Amino acid sequence: MSNQRLRVAIIGSGFAGLGMAIRLKQSGQHSFTVFEAADKLGGTWRDNTYPGCACDVPSHLYSYSFELNSDWSRNFAPWHEIEAYLKHCATKYEIDAHIKYGTRITAARFDETTNSWRLTSATGERFTAQALVLGTGPLNKPVIPDIPGLATFAGKQFHSGAWDHTVGLQDRRVAVIGTGASAIQIVPAIAASVRQLYLLQRTPPWVMPRFERAISRVEKRLYRALPPLRRLIRTLIYWRLEALAGALLRDGRLRRLAEGLARRHLQRSIKDPQLRRALAPNYRIGCKRILLSDDYYASFARPNVELVTTAVTEVRPQGIVTADGRERGVDTLIFATGFAATDFITPLKVYGRGGQELSALWRSQAEAYLGITIAGFPNLFMLVGPNTGLGHNSIIFMIEAQVHYILEALQTLYASGRLEVKPEVQRNYNRKLQQRMHRTAWMSGCNSWYLSADGKNYTLYPGYTVGYWSATRKLNPSDYSLARS
Ligand code: NAP
Repeated sequence: MSNQRLRVAIIGSGFAGLGMAIRLKQSGQHSFTVFEAADKLGGTWRDNTYPGCACDVPSHLYSYSFELNSDWSRNFAPWHEIEAYLKHCATKYEIDAHIKYGTRITAARFDETTNSWRLTSATGERFTAQALVLGTGPLNKPVIPDIPGLATFAGKQFHSGAWDHTVGLQDRRVAVIGTGASAIQIVPAIAASVRQLYLLQRTPPWVMPRFERAISRVEKRLYRALPPLRRLIRTLIYWRLEALAGALLRDGRLRRLAEGLARRHLQRSIKDPQLRRALAPNYRIGCKRILLSDDYYASFARPNVELVTTAVTEVRPQGIVTADGRERGVDTLIFATGFAATDFITPLKVYGRGGQELSALWRSQAEAYLGITIAGFPNLFMLVGPNTGLGHNSIIFMIEAQVHYILEALQTLYASGRLEVKPEVQRNYNRKLQQRMHRTAWMSGCNSWYLSADGKNYTLYPGYTVGYWSATRKLNPSDYSLARS
């Protein structure tokens, strides 16, 4: 058993943890370790490898601002290019040696006598760090619905976030459950090769055209030769997406315009009026994530693809049964049923002052200040924490704003030994945030992973990202209780 002492411990090596590590190193700090449970870095972009998996935020924006890439093959990069990009960043910024792979931190406990975090791994290793940064991400705990008879299924079954590549789908009868961002990429990617595809839809999503295309060699050459052009394209994409927030934050003209565009996309793509009705959403656009696809609707024109809108009530060894009593023979069952996003850091146990456990505290309401610091948990920082997710722009932008803020906070922390957000500061911040939340599309009455069991939204930021950026530019020391160790 070791007990290594660090200045900063980072958990997770996805975009968040890696970004934090790079910026720490660039600021001249070397006493940090990135703990990674898996044997590879990449977070979401290591875990999600399903056919068709690609980012739905344009590539030139979905990257670190300090490491733009001229070589994206498409305007929406496939997962393996994003994973390769993250590996490239880890190597270029010399983070590889700081990553401790195969080390799942299971518990972190704040030691009030030394003002440091004591970490324990699944294998019993121990580490101590003055500051702890959680970059564990909200979308990594797959949810598989508890359908009666599931255990009796004789075929193969797996979740979209843990795709089993040993299972061939060629000429098989496949059922995909779910019609979220993952499913609408999977369906067009496998429809041509499977014998039969049943897509089980509970709620139709809003789908907009994606305008997917390859980035030409000439464009790439131009980007390489003219880095300001690459930066300009990125900036234009950023502001275009930022304008979209208007449709989500308020119910007005922009919302009607977005719904009109999506409806026209459906109308143009689906000729059969009955199928069109089944695919038409009946809730406000943006309430669930707006999906982008040029080929999802086109998949239904294939004779081997069937949209099933009746709920699955039972799984039998050879197939699935829907509420109307109909059984369909299935060889492979794919759950594109999403993730337990509102569980935040579970199964990691984080014990703050007085032994208070964070997940238990967050069971009733997951609140943090700016989504980053948490009252009762000194010297702890979170990336992509409560109410910092987005429905319209790049999460990398939010991560970089958070990293900037944490770097500022660390300077204050090093000087004082202990830094903890004041409970009233956190309370006021969240009161205002929830007031703004009421008007948003996400609270307009649909069911989504954005909402907790109590119907509240602790996942998304109810504002323009530029507002969040501005709020995280400068740490206000009076927001914090500081103490000398
Ligand atoms: P999701 O958006 O949560 O969608 C889950 C789907 O499964 C929904 O259609 C849901 O129906 C359905 N479902 C869940 N339980 C069900 C049940 N018991 N019976 C029938 N249907 C059920 O999950 P996801 O598609 O994996 O996407 C999750 C998030 O990951 C996205 O919102 C996005 O933030 C991220 N993502 C991003 C990309 C990207 O390109 N950047 C790609 C994929 C995912 P209901 O709508 O009725 O609940």
